[in-house]
Amino acid sequence: MTKIAVTGAAGRMGGRIITLATESDSLQVTGAVERTGHPRIGEDAGLVAGCGALDVAITDSLEQALEGADLLIDFTFPQVTLENAEVCARVGRGMVIGSTGFRPEEREQLARITAGIPVVFAPNMSVGVNVCFKILKDIARTLGDGWDVEIVELHHNKKKDAPSGTAVRMGEVVADALGRDYNKVANCHREGMCGERAPEEIGMQTVRGGDIVGEHTVYFIGMGERIELTHRAMSRDMFARGAVRAAAWLKGKPAGMYDMQAVLGLD
Ligand code: NAD
Repeated sequence: MTKIAVTGAAGRMGGRIITLATESDSLQVTGAVERTGHPRIGEDAGLVAGCGALDVAITDSLEQALEGADLLIDFTFPQVTLENAEVCARVGRGMVIGSTGFRPEEREQLARITAGIPVVFAPNMSVGVNVCFKILKDIARTLGDGWDVEIVELHHNKKKDAPSGTAVRMGEVVADALGRDYNKVANCHREGMCGERAPEEIGMQTVRGGDIVGEHTVYFIGMGERIELTHRAMSRDMFARGAVRAAAWLKGKPAGMYDMQAVLGLD
């Protein structure tokens, strides 16, 4: 049995992770954390999540929540995750990190902080999306240069970061397969007389609205034909299920930063 603490316990993802962990045979929720001043501090994490009392009170002290836990599942925000990683590294607990929106330098900082603990870090924990990452690499390698790549992502109107972490990862997978540097070729903004599209460019387009859980389409556009690879998320539970699977997989693993490809054996 892997004992877990969950940060963002009263959040959209935190609640589903607590519920699905409670339903799993391999995990037990022993700690739940929210930001200082959150109105649900002190309440039972299971009741807040809607899965019945767990006898685990939501606290604002990560140290306290980690006391009885083997590892932390963190779906919050980059700055919060970096602070939580400092604590996990200090007390020697692994992490499953789902937060998105890290800038490249924040990702490097995260890797430095967590060098001594096992971590699963994935912008999208769904099985389907991770299979798409694998397929994308094959498509990009097979097509090579000469096909314009554009990525369009759609999310709900509460999403704070753009483009989504999943869209960025898709862009990175395609760029790597084509021998390009994603940070140099990604184009997130076209407006006015912006000129012709550069052949190596990877266009990143964002749509926000309503309650869309998450949709990603990668277009490979050639002369007279195009390929579209689309993934549609119909519920948040697929992400939470992936996080639960990653936590069960991570226990006992040596220090290192793993992704969902490793968890799912897709490497
Ligand atoms: P949300 O706003 O509903 O929840 C975030 C929670 O974190 C809030 O309850 C907030 O109060 C809490 N929080 C803020 N500061 C904190 C602190 N210092 N300590 C503890 N908790 C703190 O957001 P959400 O929809 O649950 O998404 C959370 C993150 O997960 C986002 O970065 C989102 O993009 C990401 N996400 C990742 C995946 C994936 O598969 N990797 C899937 C969905 C969402």
